[in-house]
Amino acid sequence: MSLTIEANRSLKPFNTFAVDQRAQYFAAAHGDGDVRDALARARQLDVPLLPIGGGSNLLLTRDVPALVLHIASRGKRIVEETAEQVTVEAEAGEPWHPFVLWTLDQGLVGLENLSLIPGTVGASPIQNIGAYGVEIKDVFAGLTALDSHTGKLCEFALEDCAFGYRDSLFKQQPGRYLILRVRFALRRRAALHLEYGPIRQRLAEQGIVAPTAQDVSRAVCAIRSEKLPDPQQLGNAGSFFKNPLVTAAAARALRDSHPDLVAYPQDDDKVKLAAGWLIEKSGWKGFREGDVGVHRLQALVLVNYGQGTGEQLLQLARRIQADVLERFGVALEIEPNVI
Ligand SMILES: Cc1cc2nc3c(=O)[nH]c(=O)nc-3n(C[C@H](O)[C@H](O)[C@H](O)COP(=O)(O)OP(=O)(O)OC[C@H]3O[C@@H](n4cnc5c(N)ncnc54)[C@H](O)[C@@H]3O)c2cc1C
Repeated sequence: MSLTIEANRSLKPFNTFAVDQRAQYFAAAHGDGDVRDALARARQLDVPLLPIGGGSNLLLTRDVPALVLHIASRGKRIVEETAEQVTVEAEAGEPWHPFVLWTLDQGLVGLENLSLIPGTVGASPIQNIGAYGVEIKDVFAGLTALDSHTGKLCEFALEDCAFGYRDSLFKQQPGRYLILRVRFALRRRAALHLEYGPIRQRLAEQGIVAPTAQDVSRAVCAIRSEKLPDPQQLGNAGSFFKNPLVTAAAARALRDSHPDLVAYPQDDDKVKLAAGWLIEKSGWKGFREGDVGVHRLQALVLVNYGQGTGEQLLQLARRIQADVLERFGVALEIEPNVI
């Protein structure tokens, strides 16, 4: 079936902020052939190609002068099993959380801490998604992408992806690589990561002393549901700012003036500060202006109460950045992809 291209399509259902910007052109890709066709059609139309998955890490500040390609391919499979590990592969359009549940149903360990993150498998490497002490890079086995510059298929191994904290080669070169499918190295038996956040405490409250990966997934889902607003109810893109990395000396100086500073020492003489704490201490938690604001329980999450625009959300973010910089001397970096 050939690719259907619509003109002037509203992207409101395709971004979790639910802002009502329009795509100049829009199409859905159900397989590799559609992605190739879309690349060719974008060239003919003389517009860039913008791949999107669930739109849960996007801030649309204007109508998009591009062919927006909704990656909607499906399929997941075990591709290899050895005594040590099981390699699973999923098409880019697979919704992330159902994919995690499927791996758990196969008796596989590795993705449980990443339960309930919105979005698609194909977007998961873009910002090296992470939660509760685990990142994609910890279980990444490779991916296949179409290089939009050359039109050729490329294979990426872990060392090719330049994964960092909410960062990767793909985030650094937006639009260049169209991710088609991703592989993960999981295990039948492995140590679980219980040390981060309240996972261990939550399991203990339920009387679970020898948790399975499924137990951890359920605990993570419960914690996340209490903590984060559901985009179906209230437009948001999860954490709006990255947790800033500062030197250990800078963190010590801040702690002298703010003994309750929330900070996590890293391996390399750097300290990760809790962006939510910085924003809350600056008085922004619960702030609302018109239809945009800062979530009343979670200072890291900007929200759209209904008719807010991407531009208003961006302006609010800029005010928060300026305020935190002035008060703490710390620069906050925006996490979602601003378009
Ligand atoms: C409530 C909530 C909680 C969240 N919690 C977390 C969390 O705990 N940890 C975390 O890391 N993130 C979190 N996020 C952010 C987001 O869910 C992830 O970044 C997710 O991976 C984005 O997937 P998506 O399919 O929605 O990507 P989109 O928002 O559609 O796209 C994001 C970027 O990836 C590009 N892209 C998408 N698909 C492809 C593809 N196939 N090939 C090439 N480029 C592509 C887009 O062009 C865009 O630049 C949260 C978001 C929300 C709303």
